[in-house]
Amino acid sequence: MRLVRLIANLGYGTRKDVAWMFREGRITDPDGDVLYADDKVEHAQIRIDGEPLDPPAGIVLMMHKPLGVTCSRKDTGRVVYDLLPPRYRARTPALSTVGRLDRDTSGLLLFTDDGALLHRIISPRAQIAKVYEATLAQDLRGDEQALFASGTLMLESETTPLLPAQLDVLGPRHARLILTEGRYHQARRMFAATGNHVETLQRTAVGDLNLKGLDAGAWRQLASSEISLIF
Ligand code: URA
Repeated sequence: MRLVRLIANLGYGTRKDVAWMFREGRITDPDGDVLYADDKVEHAQIRIDGEPLDPPAGIVLMMHKPLGVTCSRKDTGRVVYDLLPPRYRARTPALSTVGRLDRDTSGLLLFTDDGALLHRIISPRAQIAKVYEATLAQDLRGDEQALFASGTLMLESETTPLLPAQLDVLGPRHARLILTEGRYHQARRMFAATGNHVETLQRTAVGDLNLKGLDAGAWRQLASSEISLIF
């Protein structure tokens, strides 16, 4: 792919903007030697204003989504894309969230621009474990573990029962819930079905990938060895 298109696709600007950046000598190699639009150079050898180019298409990012931001592209309030450099929103192919977390849920959120990978992860057939920690408004009744594991729990306005889910009791009002599907507001609705109310909810892991080392609001690109931890 020609350099102008490659760089424009990474969201640095329109092709016209990028052509100007070449003319202004802002695009160089690691030694600071100016590159030209028709040069043949490896991605890793390109610098813009001295900074390495963002990673090429085929990325997976992991974010520790904080509370109070939504997973949509546009909203009246803050959205998860506001936590990434602005050009990440303008990449081609587009970067999408892998599923969603509610505005009032924090935790592990993935993004990818790889459509096939996105579908593999969200496919109900993949049955990837999503681990949530919830604090509750009332004490657990005691029968939730069996009910959630039964595969018979039917949520309001749904036509098929939920797949069996694992509940680990961590305290009278504190539990870990492991889901393998992702229905709308699923964790909150499961506890609501038992007469309880979720006060806080955090997704702590997806597959074997967890939030360790990532503060709320922070994000990083996953290495391919980490992508395999999802499955
Ligand atoms: N279940 C919910 O209720 N909310 C989320 O954000 C994720 C799972």
